[in-house]
Amino acid sequence: MECKDIVQCLSKYIDGELPIELLEQAEKHMAECPKCTAAMHTLRETIQAYKLTGKAHIAPEHRASMLAAIKEAARTHSE
Ligand SMILES: [Zn+2]
Repeated sequence: MECKDIVQCLSKYIDGELPIELLEQAEKHMAECPKCTAAMHTLRETIQAYKLTGKAHIAPEHRASMLAAIKEAARTHSE
């Protein structure tokens, strides 16, 4: 798995919806990649903040913009 693959499945990873074989690959990658670990923490904190406000689900457009921001961060930090 590469960083771009992690970004694709981060949302499902946090929701616990990732199939076990992908979950294992994602965790293996994150163990070696501080960048993806940081992105995962950022996204998880954002999702938890949403849940604390009583919104069980993040609107798809918010989720998309969050992922776009994380993707952008991964891209700019990859040099
Ligand atoms: Zn990575």
